[in-house]
Amino acid sequence: MDRVDKDRFPTRPFSRSELRPAPQADLRWVLVKKDTRRFLARYWGYFLLVLVLAGWFYTNIGPAPLALGSALVLLFTLFMAPMPCCAETRTEGQYCRRNGTGILGGCYLKAHKWQNAKALVRRQSWAGLARHVFTSISGNATAISALAATASAVAAVITLALKSPTPGPPGG
Ligand SMILES: [Zn+2]
Repeated sequence: MDRVDKDRFPTRPFSRSELRPAPQADLRWVLVKKDTRRFLARYWGYFLLVLVLAGWFYTNIGPAPLALGSALVLLFTLFMAPMPCCAETRTEGQYCRRNGTGILGGCYLKAHKWQNAKALVRRQSWAGLARHVFTSISGNATAISALAATASAVAAVITLALKSPTPGPPGG
């Protein structure tokens, strides 16, 4: 490249506005379809889970970031993942079908949030809760992600615990 592109590399000194970080990243973000943005905002936990699993199998990143990532995914599945509310209603055997957030989150009704939390404590309601969670696709995805994140978090913590007393495995 002998010819200098004058448009790209102006010879005059940079003005103040030019020294500010370019809004390129923001522009690209705007160009992303609105639906895609909403999709990413709602389902970020699943993407993070994929990253964490990829981190386990394909990288040498170490257990600490994986533990952090797993914990975030777990929080996402418990409180943020879009799925049916699932709280037991006053009618026996009927479950709230409003859109809720997370396994524990529930819908906008505060009582349902409490009910979901209590359902996890009461053993006899596990079967009903599980049946309802697994009947919806989003519920399935959330429950499986929660299990994967838990397994990943436990594995990361065990790895951390095994690693910490010694300065490091020889030749590792
Ligand atoms: Zn509800």
